[in-house]
Amino acid sequence: MPLGEGMARIVMKFGGTSVADIDHLRKVAERVAREVEAGNEVAVVVSAMAGTTNRLIDWAGEMSVLHDAREYDTVVSSGEQITIGLLAMALQQMGISARSWLGWQIPVQTDGIHGSARIADIDGAELVRRMAEGQVAVVAGFQGLGPDNRITTLGRGGSDTTAVAIAAAIGADRCDIYTDVDGVFTADPRIVTAARKLDRITYEEMLEMASQGAKVLQTRSVVMAMNHRVRLQVLSSFADTPGTLVVDEEEIVEQAVVSGITYTSDEAKVTLLHVQDRPGVAAAVFGPLADANVNVDMIVQSASPDGTQTDITFTVSRADLSRVERILGEKKAEIGCQDIIADPDVVKVSVIGVGMRSHAGVAQRMFGALSEKGINIHAISTSEIKISVLIGAEYTELAIRSLHSAYGLDAA
Ligand code: ASP
Ligand code: MG
Repeated sequence: MPLGEGMARIVMKFGGTSVADIDHLRKVAERVAREVEAGNEVAVVVSAMAGTTNRLIDWAGEMSVLHDAREYDTVVSSGEQITIGLLAMALQQMGISARSWLGWQIPVQTDGIHGSARIADIDGAELVRRMAEGQVAVVAGFQGLGPDNRITTLGRGGSDTTAVAIAAAIGADRCDIYTDVDGVFTADPRIVTAARKLDRITYEEMLEMASQGAKVLQTRSVVMAMNHRVRLQVLSSFADTPGTLVVDEEEIVEQAVVSGITYTSDEAKVTLLHVQDRPGVAAAVFGPLADANVNVDMIVQSASPDGTQTDITFTVSRADLSRVERILGEKKAEIGCQDIIADPDVVKVSVIGVGMRSHAGVAQRMFGALSEKGINIHAISTSEIKISVLIGAEYTELAIRSLHSAYGLDAA
């Protein structure tokens, strides 16, 4: 049934801080009510109350260090069951027809990777039918149903992905992600007071921002929005201001060269000193790490002065560092390396912007701004729309502030 003029089918997603307690849930219900009263069909996706998922994860760990991943999912998915039931009650109390949906009831079908499952398929037909009758669908984020007929969870922050996937499945006109910030910023406003909220950002930039440390959206949700062309908006659940629209590049009229600066501090640097410079060494180093499921990010190999030895530097996530040291320690002789140096006190700072594709000198401006502040760069990596540098953790704030003004991003 086609919707009436000016009406839309929308998904509204609320994160943990927006549903932190009964009062907050009532406020969320009021926001939902406004959209319903405007004639829209609404599906709401909610997270667990702030802090709940952390507590559930702690409990699972306390009960058993090597727990069954399926039972882990049974436990940690439970926070969302509470918030959907309560929100449905709040809506009903306001005279709005609503019902809660757990992942398995829809069902949100996922693969079987418990703890970080991927959504495989959602049949939105029943949701669409009921929404057309005026019933608000209140959907539990973060959870699904695996091929083993067990509850799965989608990884931390997974409710964003649930929201986008539901939006794609029901052909929603928009997916609004309500959160505790006003939108996507040019940099973390806690670090850069002159940071600005972006009105629009491209899917690709949002994807880089999310994967390079901006915590506003789960990376997978952006990939899904990009692939299904879901219109995403990130906005505050506390203020009544417009947020940031995530859109196609063509929808951005005046594209800045750099749209944002992000950082990730969960990096660690590993340097292998005096490695034999011969074919097969990189494979001997990175093969065992790949086998152990360690993600390697930046890699730098220095030129060897005499062609016999070289140094290899790379980064891994800090959580993997001790594993990496152990694995490579065992292979030291085989790799022919003299020493392994680990440094956990590093951060990766990235500048991101689709405008880089058509502008020269973007990297130089970054290196210049950092050198002016005496900040040493340990490693560099680039993509078409991103330049990342690895620097000492103590320079994080200085680097971000300097880059923010070097690229003309400071608010006037
Ligand atoms: N409650 C889950 C978490 O804390 C999912 C989410 O909030 O998106 O990670
Ligand atoms: Mg989140």
